Amino acid sequence: MMDFDSKETIEQRKNMVERQLILRGIKNQRVIEAFLRVPRHMFVPPSHRDLSYQDTPLPIGYGQTISQPYIVALMVELLNPQEGDEVLEIGTGSGYQTAILAELVKMVYSVERIPELIKRAGGILSQLGYRNVVLVEGDGSKGLPRFSPYDKIIVSACSKKIYPAWVEELKEEGIIVLPLEAERGQNLVRGIKRKGKLVLEDHGGCVFVPLVEDELQGESK
Ligand code: SAH
Repeated sequence: MMDFDSKETIEQRKNMVERQLILRGIKNQRVIEAFLRVPRHMFVPPSHRDLSYQDTPLPIGYGQTISQPYIVALMVELLNPQEGDEVLEIGTGSGYQTAILAELVKMVYSVERIPELIKRAGGILSQLGYRNVVLVEGDGSKGLPRFSPYDKIIVSACSKKIYPAWVEELKEEGIIVLPLEAERGQNLVRGIKRKGKLVLEDHGGCVFVPLVEDELQGESK
């Protein structure tokens, strides 16, 4: 047991995994083990910490939320993470999903537009000992050419469209998972890159905070 965990948090986490993930159909064993390991309560602000293992998103400040555990599990399972993968994550937020990914793949490059969230997530991730994570401040709609191409891309904020940079920076046969604005509401979508183009699959409705494009980036700075 690590010093940031207690008997109680370990027990709550087991319950979360069994009731919210396994009973709802999450099957990937490595994904399940990652959820058992990552101390979610460390990524939740003190004001809501007692609710960390509940079946719900929670506020993390700046109008943003840490996603509901099940939706993180579903997206990560759809990503089919492999040990050797290099993954681009858009929307670090609390850093919780970043930690889950760091447990499962070789490298996680995560872009977040709110500097305070980057700072907070970075602090927790390094405190927990994750070394295979690079956090970058910026607008993820522009991708992250510096470390591309990626085996997988995961977007944690709802996007109006699939940005060309994401398709370009994905390897052939690479996978992207994202919430996409639909006529009504949002759909969770998975794309696989085949011959330079995405083949899309629909995975049902979801609710995410919007992806915000920083129009002036690069001009004002
Ligand atoms: N998986 C995260 C979800 C955080 S919410 C978690 O569980 O904590 C989505 C995050 O995307 C927010 O922190 C928001 O600031 C960020 N975001 C929104 N638009 C963005 C953009 N264009 N580039 C980078 N990050 C963005």
